[in-house]
Amino acid sequence: MSNNFDLIIIGAGPAGSAAAFTAAKENISVLLLEEHPKIGIPVVCAEGLSKSTIKDYLDIKPEWISRNLFGSIIRGPDGEEFKMEFPECGWILDRKIFDAALANMAKAQGTVIKTSAKAINIENDEVIVNESNEEKRYKFKFLIGADGIASNVGKWMGINTRLNLNDIVVCAQYLIEGIKIESQYTHLIIGDEYAPGGYAWIFPKSDNSANIGLGISPVKTKKKAIHFLDKWVKKEFANGKITEKRFGGVPATLLKRFSGKNFFLAGDAARFVNPLNGAGIANAVKSGIIAGRNAVLRLKGKKDYFEAEIKKEILKEIKFHHRIRKAYLKLTDKEYNEIFKIGKKVYEGKRIGHINMYHLVKEIVFSSPRLFYIGFGLLF
Ligand SMILES: Cc1cc2nc3c(=O)[nH]c(=O)nc-3n(C[C@H](O)[C@H](O)[C@H](O)COP(=O)(O)OP(=O)(O)OC[C@H]3O[C@@H](n4cnc5c(N)ncnc54)[C@H](O)[C@@H]3O)c2cc1C
Repeated sequence: MSNNFDLIIIGAGPAGSAAAFTAAKENISVLLLEEHPKIGIPVVCAEGLSKSTIKDYLDIKPEWISRNLFGSIIRGPDGEEFKMEFPECGWILDRKIFDAALANMAKAQGTVIKTSAKAINIENDEVIVNESNEEKRYKFKFLIGADGIASNVGKWMGINTRLNLNDIVVCAQYLIEGIKIESQYTHLIIGDEYAPGGYAWIFPKSDNSANIGLGISPVKTKKKAIHFLDKWVKKEFANGKITEKRFGGVPATLLKRFSGKNFFLAGDAARFVNPLNGAGIANAVKSGIIAGRNAVLRLKGKKDYFEAEIKKEILKEIKFHHRIRKAYLKLTDKEYNEIFKIGKKVYEGKRIGHINMYHLVKEIVFSSPRLFYIGFGLLF
């Protein structure tokens, strides 16, 4: 087999596989590299996916789903809760199956997939790969970096991808079995006791198991995410059995540049994540598809629309959420409680079909002078 490919994609998460199945069907040669021996393992994700964010890009197959969701239960800092009935909101995926299925879609279109193949550097038009402990070199005409939050591809291609403390949400999560949960609802918890500068979640995986985790902002607390998770789990799930432990980060910043003469970045590598709720699966798939489509245009010597499509489909919404996060980080538990009460007033007891963030922010901003002071700029 030749070591020359039209397109090399580094990282077989949702972004990389989506780029691969999009590009490979256009009759160009595609190599997809994954450092782990099995695609989809380990899963560092709570696996929640909202229907509205993905529906125009990918049909979600029943076998990829752990749980169909019917809404959320929200808990405020005082411990008070309310339920949002939102029958079409989305799913908890099984990412071990989902990630592998997307890679299989790429393979079915002719993508060459190499696992246990870690890209260790790029020299000119060659990716240097540690493949099962042997050094190999693969030549590319175009490259897509889909290597997740710890991405090196951007750095190798001359982009500043450094994450400062303020640019990251630090997460800890356990898969806990043998617990009592409302298994068709996600549980979202705000407040400094649980997750300073972020939120805590219970995402059901079955009738009696869930991904239970939280994300914190390291600028709001010096304590580690695991400290908050252990404290909470001891209090609420002491009888459960922890079967997986996962630690990771969610990027909460934007890059100045995410493409170049012969490359695009996609997914977490490009920081295409909602910094407020940490959702990155849908944007990984979307940006992968956009990257794959536009890489083909470049390879065929045509004008591409990568930057324009990313701006319209992904960045517009993310930028709004970055501004909300900036305001969110300034809030105290007293203000989280006020916001919780507004959410309760707006959503409790109603059947929801869609959440309009702009209208919600408007309700919150006009509810008190302090929130008006912090959040007024978000409306314009
Ligand atoms: C605790 C936690 C919970 C989360 N929960 C959610 C959630 O509920 N919903 C949601 O939408 N998002 C969630 N996210 C975010 C989501 O997991 C990511 O946004 C998503 O996985 C990004 O997909 P990706 O393809 O860009 O990157 P990844 O899924 O990270 O895939 C990158 C791939 O590249 C491979 N790779 C890296 N470097 C190399 C290399 N040098 N050579 C070869 N391969 C390499 C990795 O092994 C990996 O397989 C969560 C994140 C965390 C940390």
